[in-house]
Amino acid sequence: MTDRKWVYLFDEVKAAEDYAGSWDGVRGLLGGKGANLAEMTRIGVPVPPFFTVTTEGCNAYLANDNKFPEGMWEQMVTALKGVEKAANKEFGNPKNPLLVSCRSGAKMSMPGMMDTVLNIGLNDETAKGMVELTENERFVYDAYRRLIAMFGTVVLGISDEKFEKELEELKEAKKAKADTDLTADDLKELVENFKKVTKEAKGFDFPQDPLEQIRLATEAVFGSWNSKRAIDYRKAADIPDDLGTAVNVVTMVFGNMGWNSGTGVAFTRNPSTGEAKLFGEYLLNAQGEDVVAGIRNTEKIETMGESLPEANKHFLEIAGKLEKHYREMQDVEFTIENGKLWMLQTRNGKRTARAAVKIAVDMANEGLISKEEAIQRVTPKQVDTLLHPQFLEETKEKAHKDGSFFASGVNASPGAAVGQVYFDADTAEKMATDEGKDVIMVRPFTKPDDVHGMLSSKGILTSEGGATSHAAVVARQFGVPCVVGASMVKIDMVKRQMEIDGRVIKEGEWISVDGGSGEAFVGKLDLTAPSLDEQTDLMTLLSWADEICATDGIRKAPKGWPTRGLQVWANADYPKDAQRARAYGAKGIGLCRTEHMFFEPARLPIVQRMILAKTSETRTEALNELLPYQRSDFEGLFEAMDGQPVIIRLIDPPLHEFLPSEEALLEEVITMRVKGETKGLEEKEELLANVRSLHESNPMMGLRGVRLSIAMPEIVEMQVRAIFEAAANMALKGVSVHPEVMIPLTGHVNELKVIQPRLIEIAKDVMKEKGVEFSYKFGTMIEIPRAAVTAKEISEVAEFFSFGTNDLTQMTFGYSRDDAERNFLVTYIEQGILPKNPFQTLDQDGVGALMRRAVRNGRETRVELEVGICGEHGGDPDSIEFCHTIGQNYVSCSPFRVPVARLAAAQVALKYKDQEVNIKEQ
Ligand code: ADP
Ligand code: MG
Ligand code: MG
Repeated sequence: MTDRKWVYLFDEVKAAEDYAGSWDGVRGLLGGKGANLAEMTRIGVPVPPFFTVTTEGCNAYLANDNKFPEGMWEQMVTALKGVEKAANKEFGNPKNPLLVSCRSGAKMSMPGMMDTVLNIGLNDETAKGMVELTENERFVYDAYRRLIAMFGTVVLGISDEKFEKELEELKEAKKAKADTDLTADDLKELVENFKKVTKEAKGFDFPQDPLEQIRLATEAVFGSWNSKRAIDYRKAADIPDDLGTAVNVVTMVFGNMGWNSGTGVAFTRNPSTGEAKLFGEYLLNAQGEDVVAGIRNTEKIETMGESLPEANKHFLEIAGKLEKHYREMQDVEFTIENGKLWMLQTRNGKRTARAAVKIAVDMANEGLISKEEAIQRVTPKQVDTLLHPQFLEETKEKAHKDGSFFASGVNASPGAAVGQVYFDADTAEKMATDEGKDVIMVRPFTKPDDVHGMLSSKGILTSEGGATSHAAVVARQFGVPCVVGASMVKIDMVKRQMEIDGRVIKEGEWISVDGGSGEAFVGKLDLTAPSLDEQTDLMTLLSWADEICATDGIRKAPKGWPTRGLQVWANADYPKDAQRARAYGAKGIGLCRTEHMFFEPARLPIVQRMILAKTSETRTEALNELLPYQRSDFEGLFEAMDGQPVIIRLIDPPLHEFLPSEEALLEEVITMRVKGETKGLEEKEELLANVRSLHESNPMMGLRGVRLSIAMPEIVEMQVRAIFEAAANMALKGVSVHPEVMIPLTGHVNELKVIQPRLIEIAKDVMKEKGVEFSYKFGTMIEIPRAAVTAKEISEVAEFFSFGTNDLTQMTFGYSRDDAERNFLVTYIEQGILPKNPFQTLDQDGVGALMRRAVRNGRETRVELEVGICGEHGGDPDSIEFCHTIGQNYVSCSPFRVPVARLAAAQVALKYKDQEVNIKEQ
């Protein structure tokens, strides 16, 4: 005999807990359904007596060549005796028969597992006995024929059509329209016919031995763990294959005993809005799945009191009790038999993003859970969903029905967009800015010089590319809804139209794009636009997140390091972005890219003049013209960020980016020569020569960033003057300004030593001129591996570090991002060479190791060194976690990601509470 315990009776949850060690362990052992049935029993909720065969039993059975392990069957029989005693009925005894259901139940609720078999224990003898007891022959034979059919299909694998056919034939013969028109005698006849179906299909009779019924049903549940459906689901949902399923054998209660009986399902709060009000439905005189099967019209749970007042009162009480006990919204199943309520299941209810936030906040306000728990009940993804405009499901269903749907592709960037189609970036931008149109840009794919069009669009649709294509990455970064790779769309740039299976959509026509689902529709679908202000529950939740992050000591770190959680800052180039960032809860600007300002149509000619200047004087002349533009941009930024730090990065890209392309110029020059045009030819030729002289074979690694500043200091000198004049002007107006000047692309400390002191001089001069003083910092972007490695020296000069993880990832891997994403990254990820796209989720082992080292060494020189991240990773929850653990001060991300990052930052602060920051080499 083995002393291994395979079976737990309804009152043995304590033993299960002792054995499994935790509630999670109990769920693993008894399955979610079994564990909660046992827990409900323990707290005095009426549950029909039952026993559970453990998941370990399932695994042992499967490992043992599909045979019950030693002792299991004996334990099941003993447990059945315990159930009989509690139910005061006897299994297989015609005088007082116990019937049971056999229910599967894994740790996680899992489609693909065996369906529940009800009414086990009925046979020819017990059926007769039940008729005498209930005086309801029709009810008994209805239950019996259901058992034979359910058992036949679910346990024995007979096709349900065979049973259906018998039923239909009988109904026809008896001229019965519905099942309910069949009499008790008809159903008796059906029972006999169903038995024949079983015999014919399997070669043996429907088992009359009730114990045999339980045994076969249990084996079938175990076997269903390895059904194809179950395996596929586990693969998709990342559920381990070795968990196994439990089997619950539960005393039957009958909701179909008459009009004093019924069955229903309910959520303790509204799962779609979160409203704190019971939400559910029920049916009188019905059993099991009738409510969800949709064969009869159900009643709203609110009306149950009218027909079953006593049971309803009891139910309300129990629903409240369960929610308090589990401290979570519950999804319950119940049955009322002759006025008596029985609970058959409870579990944490699934909910929409909106409901998740409301329920978490309400429960914390009710004192049911703490604010910390509320924070952990909502996922960053749910917050993201709530901030993008959406099409309601109803709207899309309608659009599908009326034929508006025309294409689907990869759901690259969530959110819904409605606009007019334009097929190139310049037109898209023109239509949006000059004509104020809502634009959807449609392209085969996008390139860096399409970005201005993408940014002015409400949505983007491409016919090529995948989830890491340029269009997808840029769209996500800027929060533009985007569908990529809709390959059925054929774009005709000459006719300026697209064609999808013969349907033509011309430029200027309206379409609607759902970046969350990857669908595209013709016409204007109704948008539901959420704003953070209106979402008071989300605002509350995020304010709690900020409180948690602002708690001193929540992070254990070396002396002088930040001990609160991460702050969330934003990347914003324009005052309007800064305002949005602030409204979304940013605590600073982590990156303002100044060169965007150079590209504006009014400024570009001056910028070009500045670049092409032959003398320092003419260059300075052009720069003096640019200065007021820059200054006014910066003033707006400082004003928007009153009281908060603003990091402004000095010019970064190589100069040729501001000039026309060599090819285009060459073509123009040749055309002019061929046509004999002389007017302006000389200037064009000179420009071409200049562009050629600026040509670099790898401009990414060429004359840019700090190198350019050293070669041509006038530009950054003008920029620093603009920054400090703007700050001074604002300070004089009473704005609290905190400028931080960021020097890009440092690789060697000597670069900073050359340039930074000159710039600091300018800063001081301006403050003196304006007669005002304020605090400021000079620091650098860490985006070249050498800078990370020599952080100790760099921080002798730099007062802050900001990890530019886009470039740092490129340089560390030696990938050029565009080439990598276009040519091999997808393959790498598919083949498992790389686990994830390192441009989306920080490569912690490589790039991250450099970052950790840079923080530690940088603070060795300068303990108060401020460290942040401004790459695209700053808004990614996994990367945020990493930034917290290496001791950074803040993360900076797109304004749209700020709320998501605030939640993620608080969650990681709680996750690592009291844990020492990890500064060691790994
Ligand atoms: P699922 O996991 O698909 O919800 P369940 O095991 O919960 O499967 O059962 C399916 C249906 O049968 C549910 O409506 C449930 O309430 C009902 N049911 C299960 N066991 C019993 C029982 N012992 N008495 C009455 N109804 C039952
Ligand atoms: Mg259920
Ligand atoms: Mg960079």
